[in-house]
Amino acid sequence: MTAKLKIYNTLTRQKENFEPINPPHVGLYVCGPTVYSDVHLGNVRSFLSFDIVYRYLSFLGYKVRYVRNITDVGHLVDDADSGEDKIAKKARLEQLEPMEVVQKYTNGFHDVMRLFNILPPSIEPTATAHIIEQIEMVKKILDKGFAYESDGSVYFDVRKFNESHPYGKLSGRNIDDLMANTRSLDGQDHKRDPLDFAIWKRAESSHIMRWPSPWGEGFPGWHLECSAMSTKYLGAEFDIHGGGMDLKFPHHDCEIAQNIGATGKSGPRIWMHGNMLTVNGRKMAKSEGNGFTPEELISGNHKLLEQGYSPMTVRFFMLQCHYASTLDFSNEALRAAEKGYKRLMDAIDGLEGLEPSGKSDFDLAALQAACAEAMNDDFNTPILISVLFEAAKIARQIQSGDRSCSEEDLTGLRSLFDDYAFTVLGFRKLEESKGKEEELTPGLMDLILKLRHSAKLSKDYATADRIRNALQEMGITVKDTPQGSEYKID
Ligand code: ZN
Repeated sequence: MTAKLKIYNTLTRQKENFEPINPPHVGLYVCGPTVYSDVHLGNVRSFLSFDIVYRYLSFLGYKVRYVRNITDVGHLVDDADSGEDKIAKKARLEQLEPMEVVQKYTNGFHDVMRLFNILPPSIEPTATAHIIEQIEMVKKILDKGFAYESDGSVYFDVRKFNESHPYGKLSGRNIDDLMANTRSLDGQDHKRDPLDFAIWKRAESSHIMRWPSPWGEGFPGWHLECSAMSTKYLGAEFDIHGGGMDLKFPHHDCEIAQNIGATGKSGPRIWMHGNMLTVNGRKMAKSEGNGFTPEELISGNHKLLEQGYSPMTVRFFMLQCHYASTLDFSNEALRAAEKGYKRLMDAIDGLEGLEPSGKSDFDLAALQAACAEAMNDDFNTPILISVLFEAAKIARQIQSGDRSCSEEDLTGLRSLFDDYAFTVLGFRKLEESKGKEEELTPGLMDLILKLRHSAKLSKDYATADRIRNALQEMGITVKDTPQGSEYKID
């Protein structure tokens, strides 16, 4: 086990030597999705970043307990402190039971994670299955005097907390700045101070998702679930907590306040935050019209995309950028990634069946050290990929007879790729990814035929024909029947 791993801690704003609290165990908590809509690509990038953290810590020999939650209650529209629940709103719009919404988007989330070869966590707890733990935590915070009850809701007393602990430390805010940016209380609220946030909310009569509590029927505040579940599964003090940068405030600063308020301990020692995605230099967001779904990226079916890209191309593309930097999507960069990924995989394939040719004229140990050094430097995947390209160049030279390689080093070179390209970076070999794409075909075809069907329903026959003709060109025949469309791959 190496002690050389350094991680940038958002809380202390510096790279720190990673020392687990209770080696060889490592506790890793990552804020998971709110399952009310399809996962978008920004989420994929964030979960991929922590997939790498999980993979590398496991590769180093640590026994990682990786907890990634599912938010299925309490996250209100606009991340607000009162109003409608995102899941309940979707349920109302789609005329579904809230748990049907939760199941539907949880399934979709898992499909997308598998597609990009993002490993499942060790525990995937949901907020609705931890209502008791959350109520217990609210009671503790009340007992310690850091919260108050008001009209069936319980609010965290930010000013009281701030007297002994700086509130907003993680995101670099202080309460005077926050005060300047806060709307005054509008009378609907039962808070004493606009800075206070709900840890338990009274359910209005129209609110579907509700549970009995000592304060009446209600539901937990959004920030509370992560405090309750990380404490339950990883303890009051644990190693690493991760999430997207947009969660720093209020979500993570509130988590810290709740943790201290309930247990006296702040929770994780290290906070890690992934950076966001931009498209042609602008933040990727649904409201900007430039946020595409993983399906659109793979099928190429989006006005900003010139073609579709395979999940492994996208994985490679994302890992060519350090998790803490912004990553810009463009067709040009994706096409370059497609080529780069193929070149790397071809070189690795080329090592199969190769015979040793005497004494090596390259330094395998230096390559191995460079790989470890890159990952130990705060999971620097772009540097690791560049070292793998160096190794791939050597592999090609061995193949063409321009370099010699001993039997031992040939084995060593193969295991270097196994370790770093496949185990740590989670790439799939080309033929494996092809198999995965074949698994995807029925789902994608179903999607395309549905799009064509809705074009026909709205009498947009030009689009319907264009889809059929384009499929025909790819060797897929579409036949319309009274029961719907069928397809046949020639
Ligand atoms: Zn969270």
